[in-house]
Amino acid sequence: MMSEKQAKNDAGWNFDNSYSRLPHFFYTKINPTPVSSPKLILLNTPLAASLGLNEGALRSRDSLAIFAGNQIPDGGLSIAQAYAGHQFGQFNRLGDGRAHLLGEQLTPYGERVDIQLKGSGKTPYSRYLDGRAGLGPMLREYIISEAMYALGIPTTRSLTVVSTGETFLRETEQSGAILTRIAASHIRFATFQYASEFGTVDELRALADYTIRRHFPEALGAENRYLALLEEVIQRQAQLIAKWQLVGFVHGVMNTDNIAVSGETIDYGPCAFLDVYDPETVFSTRDTEGRYAFGKQPEIAAWNLARFAEALLPLLHDDEKQGAQLIANAIAHFSKQYHANWLAGMRSKLGIWKEESEDESLIQGLLHLMHTYRADYTNTFRALTLDKPEDTLMYDKLDFRQWYERWQARLSRQQETKADSQQLMRSHNPAIIPRNHRVEEALASAVNQEDYTVMERLLEVLSTPFAYSPEQVDYVSPADLTACAYRTFCGT
Ligand code: AMP
Ligand code: MG
Repeated sequence: MMSEKQAKNDAGWNFDNSYSRLPHFFYTKINPTPVSSPKLILLNTPLAASLGLNEGALRSRDSLAIFAGNQIPDGGLSIAQAYAGHQFGQFNRLGDGRAHLLGEQLTPYGERVDIQLKGSGKTPYSRYLDGRAGLGPMLREYIISEAMYALGIPTTRSLTVVSTGETFLRETEQSGAILTRIAASHIRFATFQYASEFGTVDELRALADYTIRRHFPEALGAENRYLALLEEVIQRQAQLIAKWQLVGFVHGVMNTDNIAVSGETIDYGPCAFLDVYDPETVFSTRDTEGRYAFGKQPEIAAWNLARFAEALLPLLHDDEKQGAQLIANAIAHFSKQYHANWLAGMRSKLGIWKEESEDESLIQGLLHLMHTYRADYTNTFRALTLDKPEDTLMYDKLDFRQWYERWQARLSRQQETKADSQQLMRSHNPAIIPRNHRVEEALASAVNQEDYTVMERLLEVLSTPFAYSPEQVDYVSPADLTACAYRTFCGT
């Protein structure tokens, strides 16, 4: 006969809690605050399978209690993580104010991933805030993070959203919800800043060694493993930010507490994708200075990396001056790596296989035209991919036609056929992105009418962004461009 414990674990949970073996300084043991009448709104079945979890069991009452924070799964250990970082340039002591890390799922495929509840109640790091999250923002994180995953961009993922059956007051009354987030880890730049600012060198070293073992084991063999850690983190940021820029993603709150050392995109707040190409695009109402505008993201990434590197300084070198020199060299390398990644990605977006020195000017030429004529970012590349330049809406402009001829000439200079180039473009230019008005429409019917069908259809088409399928055509158009600029609110 099956024991009670086994029955409870039909879901397939297989927890380890390595983070809680770090010094206590890094976290507080605390359980989520129970909620009254939870309901499962979304379950990500392919993700569940990839974690070794059983879909049927995840739909049970026992599992619902876990996703609602009412029960800790066998082997789990609920903690809130401490961190301290720069928010809009200001250093603050922070930590998980509304999130609980239940532990790390060891998957049948050899992976270790964090299972975290978000919106699950107060912790000692909540400050004056309520520990809760709204249904709209949690569904939004689910939609955007899964869209990012499908676009091939490193990201945390979303396993479930449950509504809590409770409401709370922000600007308006909100329905509560809890997101179960899956991440390579939740170690943030701000976790290192916290250790560096408030901890001992031993605590900082413990965090660095833990991070290296968990994410960068290759660095263990390096002459200076902490420098190798820094270089790896820089490399992953250079890859990640290039991918954001290539699809037109604006994170919105690149505070150092929202940057994961693993190189995954994390903390989806007031983020959105560009419609019109404009480097100055800002979606967040909180970002009044445009600090985190689309075109500033690479520069901000370098700034964040400098803060991360400074936190590592005591480990990098016994001599502070020489340590600072190591940091300066490493950060300088970021810009080069970022640029190389971006340029390579842009070549692919234009069907260019091999480098020519004029390519960058060709690419900048197109971006300049898109900016001048307020062209839609995704749809311009989509039209070029489909070989329908007339759909770019710039086709009647002489300077665009000149650019187009120049581009065609460039393509004809390569050995690859036109079909080869189109294939390359199709795999780099998404046919669809989560358009702001489509996301809002899905959230409105979910939150206001409890109708989840609009969201489910949206999730379905977003799951294959490179398909160029007929069903996607309905989702390609941007919102009415004469409408007010789209704004997201950080009531997240
Ligand atoms: P964010 O800007 O969403 O990344 O949040 C910054 C910090 O505020 C993090 O430490 C969050 O845990 C915390 N926080 C955000 N919203 C809440 C909330 N409703 N209750 C408690 N803490 C919060
Ligand atoms: Mg955050």
